[in-house]
Amino acid sequence: MAGQKRICSTSVLCIGAGGLGSPIAMYLAAAGIGRIGLVDFDIVDFSNLQRQIIHGTEDVGRHKGESARETLRSINPGVDVVLHSVRLSSENALEIIQGYDIVVDGTDNFPTRYLTNDACVLLKKPNVYGSIFRFEGQASVFAPHLGGPCYRCLYPEPPPPGMVPSCAEGGVLGVLPGIIGCMQATEILKLALGKGTSLVGRLVLFNALDMKFKELKLRRDPQCPLCGDHPSIQGLIDYDQFCGIPAEPAQTDAHPDEVTVQEMKKALDNPKLGIQVIDVREPDEYQIARIEGVPLVPLSTLPQKFTALDPNQQYYISCKSGIRSLKALKFLREQGFKYLKSVKGGISAWADEIDHSVPKY
Ligand SMILES: [Zn+2]
Repeated sequence: MAGQKRICSTSVLCIGAGGLGSPIAMYLAAAGIGRIGLVDFDIVDFSNLQRQIIHGTEDVGRHKGESARETLRSINPGVDVVLHSVRLSSENALEIIQGYDIVVDGTDNFPTRYLTNDACVLLKKPNVYGSIFRFEGQASVFAPHLGGPCYRCLYPEPPPPGMVPSCAEGGVLGVLPGIIGCMQATEILKLALGKGTSLVGRLVLFNALDMKFKELKLRRDPQCPLCGDHPSIQGLIDYDQFCGIPAEPAQTDAHPDEVTVQEMKKALDNPKLGIQVIDVREPDEYQIARIEGVPLVPLSTLPQKFTALDPNQQYYISCKSGIRSLKALKFLREQGFKYLKSVKGGISAWADEIDHSVPKY
């Protein structure tokens, strides 16, 4: 009874209602955590369902927060579920996080991860960390105020942008966020109960292919710019800039090397334009979804196969989302190709805007 009362009087803020957020929030609701905050502004996509089990097929197209709240209420109507349907930012993070006892990091991007870490350290809130990629995951509890390190002690600098693909690009075994998320939920309940030995000062690494757990001891870095002995960071910073991501307007502006899927359709419908569209995805992706009349030249084979292409021909290059096609464009340009455009949004945008019968993955 005493333990259940402690759980009921605890509030948890879950950053992200995606792969990790799904099992975390569902188990916390089932356990009777009194108040669960959900930060997510994203929309449920069909391709999320393989790992984001808080959402179902009928939720595709809905706000993730609203879909998640409905699931949590059906598990336990006694839980107060609070939606924060915003992108966590330097402007709102302190205010949102301030209202909760424990924060759990279920995010999939570096700017939000560093932002969550910094806000938690500044507000002295435990940050229950988890991350996943392909077949591997890791978990820890960052809490300098409880004697452990913070995320910056472990990873002082983010990787260069584009180096680490997201789960959507790189793929993740669907059960992996279940395993790591359940470990995070376990740590939250232990913190709420004040029981056991927490993951403060320890990083657990999990490899699903080998089914092996490893543990690393973590120490607070006295040189850490945030939680070190002489911290240089006193407040929240610009995390997109810190992670090398260009500001929003630059991303939405028309890129000189890009065309839209509408322009690609015009090129395909009208051969007289003399534009050839090529697809640089991999063969297994081509098996799932393809556009009639667009040949496959996988990016991985381009260094060998580009000689079969005509450097004076005009090409529109397409991939899944428009990132690899820009890489292919850069490579072909270096080989002397003159007339190249990358199709913005790739086959995913084609499926959304031109032909709904093309499967998304
Ligand atoms: Zn630190």
